[in-house]
Amino acid sequence: MSKTFKAHCPRCDGERTCFIHGEHEEPWSWHDGYNSQHGQNDYKIAECCGCEVVFFHKSGWDSEDWDISYDPVTREEIITNPVTVITFPAPEKKSEKPDWVWAIAKIDPQLFHILEEMYQAYEHGALILAAVGLRTAFDRTTTVLKIDPELTLKQKVALLLDEGYIGETESKTLEVVTDAGSAAAHRAWSPTLDGFQILLTTLEQFIRRTVVSGKSALEIANTIPKRPPKIPKPKPQPNEQP
Ligand SMILES: [Zn+2]
Repeated sequence: MSKTFKAHCPRCDGERTCFIHGEHEEPWSWHDGYNSQHGQNDYKIAECCGCEVVFFHKSGWDSEDWDISYDPVTREEIITNPVTVITFPAPEKKSEKPDWVWAIAKIDPQLFHILEEMYQAYEHGALILAAVGLRTAFDRTTTVLKIDPELTLKQKVALLLDEGYIGETESKTLEVVTDAGSAAAHRAWSPTLDGFQILLTTLEQFIRRTVVSGKSALEIANTIPKRPPKIPKPKPQPNEQP
């Protein structure tokens, strides 16, 4: 059984119990006859007990770097040396991706990949691509929910509303999501950050409730009747006819 210590895991981005697979302590001191300075560096090869990532952990302090606080009772000065910690790799950049998205990888890898790329686009400020990603993710979600693939995205939203799986407000927002791709391509439409976040939150809630919570997926598939195939509307422009 390896020794453990508490450390900030660079992947979980939180404090975790970690195994110590190797460690080295290096106290140091320096003086020139008048002044002196001392401190210590501790090096560890650590493994997070949560996510199992292995990382390098260095903590160090230095007598020249100190803080004063006062004992609440005796009012005596307490000198402490703050400990500086670095890890390699450094903690990952804070992701916008909620934790539950990881659970989707097991349920439907394709939906997971779409969401991964959508969040990457969002984190890089590529909102048009991210909005197209939302639309693709919604489409894939309806496939996971075994909704008739013959229906258009708008019809799928209407169906989810009719069956009570989404509310009125949610259906309006999801309709915007389904329109996002073609709006960006044909109508010079570009979402604002605030506008995008509303679309994202709505889709996240929808996916989380229907796909991740698990119980609704089969229920939806079993209760939604397949619609009869739609009758194609006559096209108004004569020159567009085949
Ligand atoms: Zn971890």
